[in-house]
Amino acid sequence: MDELINRARRILKDSNNVVVLSGVKLMEETGLTDLRAEKKAYDIEITYGFSPEEMLTEGFFSRRTHLFFRYYREHVLQMEKLVPTPAHEAVAKLEEDMKLKAVITRTVYGLYQEAGVNNVIELHGSIHKNICPRCGRNFTASFIAESKESVPHCPDCQVAIHPKFTMFGERIDNGKISRAAEAVSSADTLILAGAALDSPLGTYAKQYYRGEHFITINDVPEPDNPMITLSFTGKCSEIMPKIVAY
Ligand SMILES: [Zn+2]
Repeated sequence: MDELINRARRILKDSNNVVVLSGVKLMEETGLTDLRAEKKAYDIEITYGFSPEEMLTEGFFSRRTHLFFRYYREHVLQMEKLVPTPAHEAVAKLEEDMKLKAVITRTVYGLYQEAGVNNVIELHGSIHKNICPRCGRNFTASFIAESKESVPHCPDCQVAIHPKFTMFGERIDNGKISRAAEAVSSADTLILAGAALDSPLGTYAKQYYRGEHFITINDVPEPDNPMITLSFTGKCSEIMPKIVAY
């Protein structure tokens, strides 16, 4: 392990254009359970009469706006209490050292920004983006959580506020996909943290990455692949801070 860590440190020391693909396993290290995890999905269905996949959709938002916001507040916005892990902090250090080009993530809780990272491509949007469809004003997660109305409205327009994360069945916006593809294809080092190469996030690496070094970190061993330079098995919050201590 120590030898691997040293090699990763040397790679990062010489890199100027690092891209981090940040996966759901890293997110789980904050204590989050995936909404689709079996037991939790069952409990949610008992409480609300619908599954997360049914509720977090555009159709449900327009038809049952009250229930949508009840679920959004009681479950999705609860994640606002999550705090960044040492892995998020390590990525912030990479940016501070002018080495980081971008972080690309499918999670929506804004933890990289909270750790101080500026260039985050949130493929599925963010719980901190809740827009008034009339005037375009943005409302934070706390505004929605603390609002006394069961359906929060824009105070200027009296129109229901629309959360802007990507709902189930919705396509990721093309602009974000191109920005992510561009970042990956021009990186000199790519880190896939908390996801397998054979995952939706991993496909960005396979499709677009042509750079020199490719480091993977995941809780299960990654099968050998000629693309991969170094592969770590373990927690991102333990490994990332070690390899960023170059
Ligand atoms: Zn408005």
